[in-house]
Amino acid sequence: MANLLYEEYEEKIRPYIDLIDSLRKLGLNKDLPLPTIAVIGDQSSGKSSVLEMLSEVALPRGTGIVTRCPLELKMKNGTMGSQWKGQLNYGDVSLTLNTPQDVEEEIKKAQRHLAGKTGICSELISLQVESPCAPNLTLIDLPGIIRVPIGNQPQDIGNMIKKLIHTYIGKEETIILVVIACNVDIATTEALKMAQKVDPKGDRTLGVLTKPDLIDPDTEKDILKIINNQMVPLRKGYVLIKCRGQHDLIANTSLANALEKEIAFFNDNVHFRPLLEKQMASFQHLSSRLTNELVLQIRKCLPAIQEKIGSKINEMVKQLDKMGGAIPEDPKVRVHDLTRRILAYCDEIITLAMGEYKKDYSIDVKLHDFAREKFAEWYKKLDGVKIGFNEGAINLVKHHEKNSKGRELPGFTKYRIFEAIIREQIQELLEPSLEMLNEFSAKVETACNTLAFQHFSSFPLLVSEIQIKIAEVCHKMERKAEEILKTNFKMEAMVYAPDEMYSYKLMEFQSRGQQKGNNSVANSNLDAQAMVIHLHTYYQIAIDRLVQMVPMVLRYYLLQELSVQMKVELAQLLFHSKDVDVLIQENDETAEKRRELKDNLDRLTQARNLLMNY
Ligand code: GDP
Ligand code: MG
Repeated sequence: MANLLYEEYEEKIRPYIDLIDSLRKLGLNKDLPLPTIAVIGDQSSGKSSVLEMLSEVALPRGTGIVTRCPLELKMKNGTMGSQWKGQLNYGDVSLTLNTPQDVEEEIKKAQRHLAGKTGICSELISLQVESPCAPNLTLIDLPGIIRVPIGNQPQDIGNMIKKLIHTYIGKEETIILVVIACNVDIATTEALKMAQKVDPKGDRTLGVLTKPDLIDPDTEKDILKIINNQMVPLRKGYVLIKCRGQHDLIANTSLANALEKEIAFFNDNVHFRPLLEKQMASFQHLSSRLTNELVLQIRKCLPAIQEKIGSKINEMVKQLDKMGGAIPEDPKVRVHDLTRRILAYCDEIITLAMGEYKKDYSIDVKLHDFAREKFAEWYKKLDGVKIGFNEGAINLVKHHEKNSKGRELPGFTKYRIFEAIIREQIQELLEPSLEMLNEFSAKVETACNTLAFQHFSSFPLLVSEIQIKIAEVCHKMERKAEEILKTNFKMEAMVYAPDEMYSYKLMEFQSRGQQKGNNSVANSNLDAQAMVIHLHTYYQIAIDRLVQMVPMVLRYYLLQELSVQMKVELAQLLFHSKDVDVLIQENDETAEKRRELKDNLDRLTQARNLLMNY
């Protein structure tokens, strides 16, 4: 009957313990805290003794700081008659243990490996034992709290230990098992104070009182007061237990025997005997109590764990998305993938050239904004130049008349002077137009580079290869535009306007000139006056052409032609590149980050699937 009950009970609790175990195996404790039981206590309060009585495995003991690294003790209840199994893991060591007798020495070795001869260390040593008499429990043994360092221990070892303990008990998911010796003053117990600090109401703290056999005669009542929650109240209360004492160790009392002796001790004591019935004393009780508490804690924490996993998964998926897809393994698919990436980039350059912006574009990329501003400046400049020219035209005429006085008789129409002035003035605009071309080209190059970084950030080699292409194409387009601009200016040197258009404009200027009555012009001879009006007229026509022509050339070559050329050049990159694999090598950092993210995502997804059944 008892067995049947036990089995039913096992069926209820085991899945939860196993679940947390599986989650821990997945490494989920790296992502979020999992429910666990941490054993804390002042030095020599009996922590290790408690653990060994629970696990029936002898752990290192002695004077001084014996537990120097956190020890995770995973106990598993094996089937009746099954063999004892042990497994020790720390750092990258993984060790199978054959008998419980090996445990003590191997843990000492592990501690020496992790923490040196005397120090302490926060790295976890994990011991898993499976035996028919072990409970289903996972506990973490922590270094005992000490007040003053001894020997060659570091000065601040007390604080180091407290910090380490805090990392475990500070988490809401942790059940705190505070081990307190009955023969010390409970009010001065440092471990209890620490527990109270992180768990003021005592919701997740369970007190374990040890060494009841070492109390002064007739002080049992004081102990009962503590156990009855009259001294330092804890919601989960206290359990009284008796471990192997120094005497038992010398006598080599077995752990199984010690358990029997414990029951006998309580039965023999009139004060403590009732505690057995009330389930407030003995290891047997502590063991099932802890399992129950752990399962309760697990059930309490599951919804929050599920939620945390869900939001972590979302976060990671977002991060992975941001990094872009991974590089495919298959070489053929890889070339295909690179082609797709390059085409996407070229398409973006083309749409950008057409004046379409994505909403996250920086000012660096907004080419049309830049162009509009530059072309407006160009317009203003030409307008200014024209006003200056108009005002100074009479002086130019006088200057030329004086210099060319030679073979002509007075009164002849000076078309040659007119042409010379026009040529000279128009050619002066070539330099500023080339300057604008240069600025525009630099801007386009920057924009293309910026987008290349965005598209290929994970492939540094590809980016530099593309950068070279961008520079080449920009340079080529700039040269072409320069050629066209220069040709246009050469054509302007030929002085031309359609007759009708010219006559119409001339009439306009003549009537305007009469209205204005410009003094410096009016004082000149009639020839000069006529010449100025012609100059004004023609200059206006030429300026009107340049105001439009220069921006049109720039737009055509640096936007339209360039975007098409980029596509051609980058396609060549794919065909001619000796080794596409080299180009799409991700930088180590990105590859590493992606791998890490993927691993984490994998782990969390597995964890989520595990949790779905609960
Ligand atoms: P830890 O430093 O907290 O791990 O304490 P230990 O488990 O190493 O115990 C310190 C000493 O107290 C050891 O010599 C134990 O044998 C002894 N001890 C622990 N519990 C009891 C107990 O219930 N009764 C007796 N008599 N001695 C105990
Ligand atoms: Mg210890």
